[in-house]
Amino acid sequence: MGLVFSLIIVLLFGGCRQKKELARKEPVYSKSYYVVHRGENLETILKKFILNKLTYEILDCLKNGGFSFRRCIPGDSITIFKKDGKFSKLVYTHSIKDVYYVFKNSDEIFIAMKYPYIDTIPGFIRGEITATLYDAMLAKGETPNLVFRYADAFAWEIDFVTETRKGDSFYLYFNKTFCDSQFLDYDNLIFLRYKGKIGDYYGIYYKDPEGREDYYNLKGQSLRKSLLKAPLRYSYISSYFTERRYHPILKIWRPHHGLDYVAPRGAPVSSIGDGIITFAGWKGGYGKLVEIRHKNSFRTRYGHLSRFARGIRKGKRVKMGQLIGYVGSTGLSTGPHLHFELRKNGRPINPLRVKIPRAPSVCKKYRKNFFQYRDSLLTLIKNLSEEELVSTGR
Ligand SMILES: [Zn+2]
Repeated sequence: MGLVFSLIIVLLFGGCRQKKELARKEPVYSKSYYVVHRGENLETILKKFILNKLTYEILDCLKNGGFSFRRCIPGDSITIFKKDGKFSKLVYTHSIKDVYYVFKNSDEIFIAMKYPYIDTIPGFIRGEITATLYDAMLAKGETPNLVFRYADAFAWEIDFVTETRKGDSFYLYFNKTFCDSQFLDYDNLIFLRYKGKIGDYYGIYYKDPEGREDYYNLKGQSLRKSLLKAPLRYSYISSYFTERRYHPILKIWRPHHGLDYVAPRGAPVSSIGDGIITFAGWKGGYGKLVEIRHKNSFRTRYGHLSRFARGIRKGKRVKMGQLIGYVGSTGLSTGPHLHFELRKNGRPINPLRVKIPRAPSVCKKYRKNFFQYRDSLLTLIKNLSEEELVSTGR
């Protein structure tokens, strides 16, 4: 009797505890995040996380919602949400502008897309160089991307590695795009100016009614030229173009018909213009040399290379800025540097002195329109600069 009684108590007690646990139990949510790799498709990815049958339901749903499977590219992300181990939501992110959602509840599955709110906001920065342009622009709260775009627009005029000085100033008026108030990218650079020891340079982005677009200076001339200022991005010049130089190895005075750029071994060397390779190989004191023929009877030579870039050989076409080789010390050389030569009609000329032809100016019939636009921009920039001076108390 006593035994039966105690058994009942235990059962009752056990039952109670079970009930309590059930009441306390909340749904368990889980989330898996996956980044698409090269060569993968959505089907194989989904099968890693979800049952086959459901995978096809989701794929069908996406297809009906207009999802382009060709868009499934490396770097896209997929987040799968589960509730109590059962699929509840999928988020496919191609970019912040392009997001797909698939939801599933007990009896239906449906797709939703995000329609982003894109906003363009103008920005203006003005500052002074203390160390480098890069540091000075980042100090204004912008990202490296903006610095590169600014430097690229001026790449034919200014070598920002060797020609910037402390106290030089920059001005930049540009558009920034936002997606649902999240920063997306920089849009056009509208107005640029660099006022430095080397000169006062302006850049105005202009698109004529026929769709020709470029950066122009105040006179309406293109900032682009047929040849870049330098074949290296980070370097300094150690020997200039001269008719008499004491050669450190030969120990004699002789002309130096080029520029020597000091740079670490392996630094990338690029072609300063579009052209065709006329020589790529070993040539005496030059060591490993690349010679390129450009338009307007220009030729360039790049000597002492440690090696050539892939595919660089005689007869190959190269683009302005294309990698052709790496800095080395082959041939008659005392240390890693690039010997760079510019020739016109077969004769060496001083790259720092030569006038390189520009890309076309603003078309004659739109020049008046351009000048009006330029003047309104200059007034705007003047006002913005004054406002900024007042707000910073200088
Ligand atoms: Zn040299």
